[in-house]
Amino acid sequence: MELYNTLTHKIEEFIPHTPEVVKMYTCGPTVYHYAHIGNLRTYISEDVLEKALKYMGYYVQRAMNITDVGHLTSDSDSGTDKMVDSAQKEQKTVLEIAKFYTDAFFDDCKALNIRKPDVISKATENIDFYIEIILTLLQKGYAYESNGNIYFDITKLEDYYKLTNHKADEMVVGVREGVEEDTGKRNQADFVLWFTKSKFEDQELKWNSPFGVGYPGWHIECTGISIKNLGEFLDIHCGGIDNIFPHHTNEIAQSESYLGHKWCNYWFHAQHLNVKDAKMSKSQGNIITVSTLKEEGFNPLSYRYMCLNSHYRKILEFTFDSLKSSETAYLKLLNRISMIKEEGDFQDSAFNDYNEKFMTALKDDLNTANALTVLYDLLKDETINGYTKLKLIRSFDKVLGLDLISKFAGELHPQHDEIMALIEKRAEFKEEHKFTEADGIRNELAARGIELVDTREGTIYNLKEVD
Ligand code: AMP
Ligand code: ZN
Repeated sequence: MELYNTLTHKIEEFIPHTPEVVKMYTCGPTVYHYAHIGNLRTYISEDVLEKALKYMGYYVQRAMNITDVGHLTSDSDSGTDKMVDSAQKEQKTVLEIAKFYTDAFFDDCKALNIRKPDVISKATENIDFYIEIILTLLQKGYAYESNGNIYFDITKLEDYYKLTNHKADEMVVGVREGVEEDTGKRNQADFVLWFTKSKFEDQELKWNSPFGVGYPGWHIECTGISIKNLGEFLDIHCGGIDNIFPHHTNEIAQSESYLGHKWCNYWFHAQHLNVKDAKMSKSQGNIITVSTLKEEGFNPLSYRYMCLNSHYRKILEFTFDSLKSSETAYLKLLNRISMIKEEGDFQDSAFNDYNEKFMTALKDDLNTANALTVLYDLLKDETINGYTKLKLIRSFDKVLGLDLISKFAGELHPQHDEIMALIEKRAEFKEEHKFTEADGIRNELAARGIELVDTREGTIYNLKEVD
């Protein structure tokens, strides 16, 4: 598989440390607000990458962090503590807020068919290990104490900026949303490993450490969680493009200084989702969530389809009009597939040809738009029978994750009649503009793992796994 590697700034053949095994790390969400569909575009790209690697035959082990305390979201000791702000606003404890938005994040992932990584670890669960890393960095002379905080000294490294390729434009965008840069350090780019002197006196979460009572900086959580769960050699590290600097740059600095060798060979970065030429972000006030999509009557998978039609390294401009077009195309696709009759004998070589084409598209720096073109070519191909087509579509969907084939295709759900009656009732409610009642039916069925998909030809249902 060929992938663009931010570290070498070029497309390269992907070769993991251990043949056939891929260790993959993903920067997870901050959980003091809902994820927006920009964040989720990045998670969709990473999900497709994981599934494509598995499709190629790799065994993928993947870990992700949950940034569950607001003050871990920057190097800065200024501004306000996002987690405490959110807790006060919603009259909940910090941990309640974290749990609420973590659950909401995974609900969104589920709606978008984003698989949960094998290991999910909260930033707050690994404090002892961060302390161990920081102690080693102090011992090795990479870290220093100033104003009660422990900093990493970037001048100790010759190639600190290797991930950014010294591109100033990439280096100014990296501070996590709504936070300011810290000024109490030797060099401007030095970053905090541990805070003991904090203006956040009212925060709930602090830990004892050899450096004093306090809390870790933002970047150390990913280094800690990755090394702890995936070992000293990481194959692919993923994130949105805004994470290149300083977050991933700092992860490399502290991880390699701690380990004493190169840490991760491939860096995968997904481009942003924009709204009117600006990155979708909370601070821009232009965010759209999965709930918004649902409220506007969209199937969340239409958004996944829209993302797959663009390349992960290209900016995707979001408009509701373009989502509407994607939804139309997606539902048309589902309908076309639902009309295929599962008949004929298995066409071995045709299966292999199409499968090869599909993999070739994915191997070309994860070209999902071309992979979808292979699917459309297959649908058009009259020389392939329904049985072989459905087998291929089922197979492609392992990567695409578009619920292309209802799990009950060819057989009726045991409660089919009841479901159809409810679908009819919902249509009546919609006709009468009783949207709350109509949504009630959708939600009732969703709770039973039955997802409704509205198409021009009427509503069909798909089955989803329920927890
Ligand atoms: P955060 O919770 O802010 O750390 O963001 C979670 C992930 O979403 C990170 O990998 C970010 O790089 C990514 N991200 C943030 N904004 C966008 C956007 N507008 N489009 C795509 N990805 C984004
Ligand atoms: Zn990270």
